[in-house]
Amino acid sequence: MTTTYRNLIGADWKAAASGATFTSVSPANHEEVIGEFPSSGPADVEAAVDAARAAFPAWSAMPAPKRGEILFRVARILAERKEELSRLMTREMGKVLPEARGDVQEAIDVAYYMAGEGRRLFGTTVPSEMPDKFAMAIRRPIGVAGIITPWNFPVAIPAWKLFPALICGNTAVIKPASDTPACVVRFVELLREGGIPDGVVNVVIGSGTEVGNAIVDHPDVKLISFTGHTDTGIEISSRAAKTLKRVSLELGGKNPIVVWEDADLDLALDSVVWSAFGTSGQRCTAASRLIVHRAIHDDFVHRLRQRVATLVLGDGLDEQTDVGPVINAGAVERIASYAAIGRQEADLVIGGEAATDGALAKGSFFQPTIFTEVKPDARIAQEEIFGPVTSVIPVDDWDETVRIVNSVKYGLSTSLFTRDINLAFRSIRDFDSGLGYVNHGTIGAEAHLPFGGTKATGNGHREVGQAALDFFSEWKSVYIDYSGKLQRAQIDTTFVDEERT
Ligand code: NAP
Repeated sequence: MTTTYRNLIGADWKAAASGATFTSVSPANHEEVIGEFPSSGPADVEAAVDAARAAFPAWSAMPAPKRGEILFRVARILAERKEELSRLMTREMGKVLPEARGDVQEAIDVAYYMAGEGRRLFGTTVPSEMPDKFAMAIRRPIGVAGIITPWNFPVAIPAWKLFPALICGNTAVIKPASDTPACVVRFVELLREGGIPDGVVNVVIGSGTEVGNAIVDHPDVKLISFTGHTDTGIEISSRAAKTLKRVSLELGGKNPIVVWEDADLDLALDSVVWSAFGTSGQRCTAASRLIVHRAIHDDFVHRLRQRVATLVLGDGLDEQTDVGPVINAGAVERIASYAAIGRQEADLVIGGEAATDGALAKGSFFQPTIFTEVKPDARIAQEEIFGPVTSVIPVDDWDETVRIVNSVKYGLSTSLFTRDINLAFRSIRDFDSGLGYVNHGTIGAEAHLPFGGTKATGNGHREVGQAALDFFSEWKSVYIDYSGKLQRAQIDTTFVDEERT
């Protein structure tokens, strides 16, 4: 029996207005159908935006601490259903079960954090430059938020966007990636179980061009929060400019781990394997460049090869599996084409092919792949491959290392393994990225610090932590004059000075 999924419009789960559907299969086994989903279009977006607009007055008027109480209940329900949601995620997009649990845990953490923000949502109070006048800035809700999410963190990323949007008093229309709509539908069902009212969160499933464009173009959608490819982000940003929308973009990465000659190599190896091959390398923060000091290069690459050779590929629900499938057959082709480029540009250490042994042939698998002697300007060292492929770049000195770290167009996450405290601090100062790690891989962000990157990784906004509130709220500066007379700011300064003397 195939499960039929629907859009959420206001209080109702509905088929696409056109009746069109598409079927999604598990990347670990293409014979396993995840479900049948609506292939929606602009008419469905119109209905969802109407529902979100209708829900806005009551939701935005609800005191923020009360909205926080609802998010607190949501957090508890997500924690209770963590296993169910994690298993669905592994089936739908392939990441191994412990990582899927981590994905759901991120959503739980953000729900608790944003629930607490309901009692803060700090503004600013400052002394006025005039006597008998009060000055403050408060946060205001904006309206309907359009949320467009990728498939690689199918619960965490919707949570990163929805929870700050909701705590600030906005309502939302979310379009999940076409590869992971089931996770978002189940996630939103749990939000409603926690008490999120009808119309506050709406779901429209369908393609980027049909549904995504309609959300971006809609005049009543006031802000767009998007995570995905840099090219898609640029397209969205240009379209959204026509209706003067506020747009937050979280885009690609080409993240380096620098392993210095004095590093704890065992620790560095553990971290590299986790950062480069976890989620089959399909993380925006994946370590796709390893910048390794020449003095330890041969030893490091030899040991890394040995470690990677023992990684077990398979279905993410199987406890023995270290590395799950990549998202779909198209991804296998894209990664294979980069492996072919890599063979021309560098030395292949291990991997380099689709994995098709036994049961793997039923799904979309790619061998964990390492290249070495990679030139910093090689395509495999510059372009986001988004698969289990990493490039080793040998280096001799620190200045060269900084230049190579910063030589890519992205700036999401950087990491350095060293025992030298001076180099540790220099890396934080000199590596151009939104996230910086020392003696830790390129992944592992926590819910209460800002997340995002520099350069082509985004457009300057940050997700989660308090920083997310700046995107999802509008500042209003408020002046209350209780002097009982006309006081002209910037003009009556002489009068103020005279009064003082
Ligand atoms: P994607 O192809 O850009 O898709 C992301 C979302 O945008 C999907 O929902 C997609 O819909 C939709 N979309 C596609 N074209 C669109 C358009 N023209 N207008 C509006 N929406 C459109 O990216 P992806 O393959 O899902 O995700 C991988 C990328 O995300 C990588 O580059 C990765 O680095 C990046 N990422 C960044 C972060 C970060 O925080 N910086 C985090 C995670 C991932 P369909 O699925 O229907 O095509």
